Amino acid sequence: MSTTQRVCPSCKGLTPSSRTSCAHCGRRFRNEMAWKIPLIVLLFVLAIAASVLIELEPW
Ligand SMILES: [Zn+2]
Repeated sequence: MSTTQRVCPSCKGLTPSSRTSCAHCGRRFRNEMAWKIPLIVLLFVLAIAASVLIELEPW
């Protein structure tokens, strides 16, 4: 087996990790990346805000 599989938390069935939902019961898996994207966007916005603040700051 070269493909990684994950265990469904609902039915304990094995599903290829490339699938977003369980092959047996259809339960959707939580996407590991889903919570990181808003975090990256937030950091990006903070970086822009920080650079704007630094430029406006009368040193
Ligand atoms: Zn399942």
